[in-house]
Amino acid sequence: ADSPSPTAIKPINKGVVHRICAGQVIIDLSSAVKELVENSLDAGATSIEISLKDYGQDFFQVIDNGCGISPSNFKVLALKHHTSKLLDFSDLQSLTTFGFRGEALSSLCALGNLTVETRTKNESVATHLTYDHSGLLVAEKKTARQIGTTVTVKKLFSNLPVRSKEFSRNIRKEYGKLISLLNAYALIAKGVRLVCTNTTGKNAKSVVLKTQGTGSLKDNIITVFGMNIFNCLEPMNIFISDSCKVDGFLSRFGHGSGRNLGDRQFFFVNGRPVDMPKVGKLVNELYKGANSRQYPIAIMNFTVPTRECDVNVTPDKRKIFFSDESSILSALREGLQKIYSPSYAFYPVNKVE
Ligand code: ADP
Ligand code: MG
Repeated sequence: ADSPSPTAIKPINKGVVHRICAGQVIIDLSSAVKELVENSLDAGATSIEISLKDYGQDFFQVIDNGCGISPSNFKVLALKHHTSKLLDFSDLQSLTTFGFRGEALSSLCALGNLTVETRTKNESVATHLTYDHSGLLVAEKKTARQIGTTVTVKKLFSNLPVRSKEFSRNIRKEYGKLISLLNAYALIAKGVRLVCTNTTGKNAKSVVLKTQGTGSLKDNIITVFGMNIFNCLEPMNIFISDSCKVDGFLSRFGHGSGRNLGDRQFFFVNGRPVDMPKVGKLVNELYKGANSRQYPIAIMNFTVPTRECDVNVTPDKRKIFFSDESSILSALREGLQKIYSPSYAFYPVNKVE
């Protein structure tokens, strides 16, 4: 074969770069909705409503009662890497917000049609804003709304043919993944009322998730999974180091959640829902010692100093690096072994129903 002839290296067109990168931040329906819910939480909302049309395929919308967006921010709101949450690289060490990369709204613009309605306490009327695919504000009009923000995304992925096809083909799976993700936020977000509804075709709106926004993890578990499931759980609390601990709830022996690996296992770091495959594996392994037919339900929140963990590993921030992962895992193993030992409440001998 002929070797390729040398060609000039040129910069990729800005718009093309934007579309390439946007597809990595917003991978699917659940990552798109996750970004909006996190923005609402960052805005201090106590009520968040997620409304889907045709399981999100036609559009999805997140309505909150948070602080709203100031008119001075309208123009830059959906520009790439524009954020109100991070100024300096060192801020990454002390992050308390879910967002900080300033990419979600700009990516959603690139992948769908974004409109925003918002009002802060300083305005008497709200503003309806329309953005184009490059994140530029193209239309602005006054409208009525309570204080807070509504972000609507129509026709997600319509300009990425493969993703769009994948989206329609897997819509039920995508939707299931979204509900499980919303469950994670419903469990951990204290004092936040979360509602998710879906409308299909001409049918009436159906409520798929509804929490009251109570203040305790226990109450949240009861609203999300029901009393029967809660009754099969035992509170857990493991000391890892002076600045580090894990607390939450785990299944008692004989009361796992069935055969699905990872089903109803939720891990959080400082209240941020994340994937922790190693922790999941550890919990399953130790549980299996006495109950090989089921997997445990696990809801575990790790409290770790922000400077000892790095959430900026992947654009979706689901992966997390710890400065000392091996000590965390070994302390956790020791703690779990104790929990799942015969002398402890998790063991059926001590806790017969
Ligand atoms: P990030 O969350 O990383 O800052 P986003 O693209 O998600 O980036 O959002 C950009 C900015 O828009 C945020 O920093 C915030 O100031 C503002 N914003 C987005 N959604 C909301 C909301 N629901 N309420 C108030 N402000 C919001
Ligand atoms: Mg964000």
